Amino acid sequence: MSNYHIKQFEEYFQVYRKSVRNPEQFWEEIAEEHFVWKKRWSNVLSYDFKNAEFKWFENAKLNITENCIDRHLHTRGDKTAILFEPNNPEETAEHITYNQLHERVCKFANVLKDQGIKKGDVVCIYLPMIPELAIAVLACARIGAIHSVIFAGFSSSAIVSRINDCNAKMVITSDGSYRGSKTIDLKGIVDEALNDAPCIKSVLVVNRINSDVQMKEGRDVWLQPLLDDAYGDCTAEVMDAEDPLFILYTSGSTGKPKGMVHSIAGYMVYSAYTFKNVFQYRDNDVYWCTADIGWITGHSYIVYGPLANGATSVMFEGVPSYPDYGRFWDIVEKHKITQFYTAPTAIRALAKQGAEFVDKYDLSSLKVLGSVGEPINEEAWHWYDENVGKKKSPIVDTWWQTETGGIMITPIPFSTPTKPTYATLPFIGVQPALMDENGQVIKGNQVEGRLCIKFPWPSMARTIWGNHQRYKDTYFSAYENMYFTGDGALRDEVGYYRITGRVDDVIIVSGHNLGTAPIEDAINEHPAVSESAIVGFPHDVKGNALYGYVTLKDVGESRHHGNLRNEINQLITDRIGPIAKLDKIQFTEGLPKTRSGKIMRRILRKIATNEFDQLGDTSTLLNPEVVQRIIDNVK
Ligand code: ATP
Ligand code: MG
Repeated sequence: MSNYHIKQFEEYFQVYRKSVRNPEQFWEEIAEEHFVWKKRWSNVLSYDFKNAEFKWFENAKLNITENCIDRHLHTRGDKTAILFEPNNPEETAEHITYNQLHERVCKFANVLKDQGIKKGDVVCIYLPMIPELAIAVLACARIGAIHSVIFAGFSSSAIVSRINDCNAKMVITSDGSYRGSKTIDLKGIVDEALNDAPCIKSVLVVNRINSDVQMKEGRDVWLQPLLDDAYGDCTAEVMDAEDPLFILYTSGSTGKPKGMVHSIAGYMVYSAYTFKNVFQYRDNDVYWCTADIGWITGHSYIVYGPLANGATSVMFEGVPSYPDYGRFWDIVEKHKITQFYTAPTAIRALAKQGAEFVDKYDLSSLKVLGSVGEPINEEAWHWYDENVGKKKSPIVDTWWQTETGGIMITPIPFSTPTKPTYATLPFIGVQPALMDENGQVIKGNQVEGRLCIKFPWPSMARTIWGNHQRYKDTYFSAYENMYFTGDGALRDEVGYYRITGRVDDVIIVSGHNLGTAPIEDAINEHPAVSESAIVGFPHDVKGNALYGYVTLKDVGESRHHGNLRNEINQLITDRIGPIAKLDKIQFTEGLPKTRSGKIMRRILRKIATNEFDQLGDTSTLLNPEVVQRIIDNVK
């Protein structure tokens, strides 16, 4: 019997030991008992760290959409698969059952085929968070086309580079999107991009906002009339376990985005298994992940993981601030959400608005809270725990990456005791290692180092699209026989992991390696501080000194900045030590962030060293205007 659902801490340890002692046998049992295959594998795993080649469930045949949809039809055909909550709270929410999802995916798949899309073709999807986004993703998977979703907040230049990099044949987009009180002209942005993307042969357009868009003859087609004529069933393409399922570009926090390629079978098994356990999903639960499907979190934990478990997964089109800052909690109450998964940036933004927006709503349906994307600082963690979870819903701080395909370090709720700022323990089958600068494994507890994974797991990315060398160099060349994550971490006295920040962002002050997360965590403890980011700049004596960028909760407040600086440094001294005191502090209205909401320290580092003309790739920036303001403050 496989251990598909872990319910107790003891069980976690048992299963973990089993998964590490004999990974092949462990994953084989999970794969065999909980998924449908058209043909069995000939070999569970083969791997070669040196050449960065990994194969799971070799030679098996399957289609992931049969696992996510078809197999549920006879048991839960009328259950809601996707619950769509529109931007405008007045517009009725849409419940799409598994039966309906099946029909809509099949019709969409038939349209793709009619438009000349074949197995192995790359299709870019640039859609807002509407049901057609999930359906388009699944329709591609149905016929074996490789989807590459581009977050619909990206500019045309970011689209151009991604489309050309993956050599896509088709774009699926919409006339526009609703975002809070605004509408965005998505089709116009795509049109501009397509001036420089000759590989695109056709554009399918969803009508979402009824706007009057330009349709280019011979290239652009409205989707709905094609769907109306399409047949409601479509045989699932027989796919190989290792065929690519999708290409997804990383957030671009550290540099040029990488087109990570995920293959089908391993990704399916791991995203489904983690979903079940990390969120402790039960049959009548209503699970909501607030991420966009344009990010890996949305791929694995809005679409594939939940649907593979026959879950109800909420898709929210809007933003947390519209019509006001109570919107998330309104949705939790309205749909009786049981699991709520969001990012620290959203938690901090909502905490800044005060608890009155939360207190108005009945959040008693919540059982599990999740966090992903960045280290969650202690203050935000407690705010989330007290105001949202009412101290009865465990917080799962899930550490993982686009590259890992699924959650890697996380508590298992109701089992693993949580600890603020700690992602806690490796998930089943995950073998982390901390490495020192000389390439040695750091043994024991109460240690800190570079986070690596020393054994393959099923959902690891298989390559960077069109650039296997970059894949090898980035992840497998720093340490022999290891996957290098690029993040730093510490392991505490009981073996819990805390992510201390990106290794690129580590600052060496007077010979001490300082990670960004613990220092920012200390700064954020100050009651007036909303968010902070620290970077290093050259210093004659210390080698490097620390520069802090700090945003305050109440911008209108006329607190004396000199006093605040002293108080912040006092907090750092108390929590970490005088070594981590900031030499410079700039109070700013905002911090530069990626479009997924992560702080981009590499830009702040350039500003701190006055290299204003060397900011690097800024196409993934959410708020370029903030950068100029920060530069002006320095000058
Ligand atoms: P790029 O790789 O292009 O620089 P990115 O790393 O931001 O972009 P993602 O794959 O979306 O792209 O993010 C993964 C990274 O996010 C992790 O490597 C880590 O730095 C951070 N992260 C994610 N979840 C957590 C978490 N729970 N705690 C701490 N850090 C996290
Ligand atoms: Mg990364």
